[in-house]
Amino acid sequence: MWKRTIQTLILSLEIISLGCSSSSTQPVVPSEASQEAAIEQSINRLPEDDRTAAKRQRFCAVMEKERLGQRDTPIKVVIGERSVFVCCDGCVSDAKQNPKKTLDTLAKVLSGHR
Ligand SMILES: [Zn+2]
Repeated sequence: MWKRTIQTLILSLEIISLGCSSSSTQPVVPSEASQEAAIEQSINRLPEDDRTAAKRQRFCAVMEKERLGQRDTPIKVVIGERSVFVCCDGCVSDAKQNPKKTLDTLAKVLSGHR
């Protein structure tokens, strides 16, 4: 009876450790290509006219290091006569509160990231 219990215990331990070794493989990191594809997909949800502009802008006009489309569909904000794109809801209010700074950032991302 005892022996049997111990044997079962050892057996289940082996199963557990086997399970561990097979699940300790490298976590799946999205490759740059698939990230680009995801960005492309989000941008493609925009109306056609906006798509071109968002692709040209590439980066958020508030958080200039944030790619448009990386989190979600880019959001268009109209400041004066310009349409700018931002990466998320939080940036919309930022852009409206600091229109001048946003247009400066826009000019920067349009000229700097080519
Ligand atoms: Zn944002």
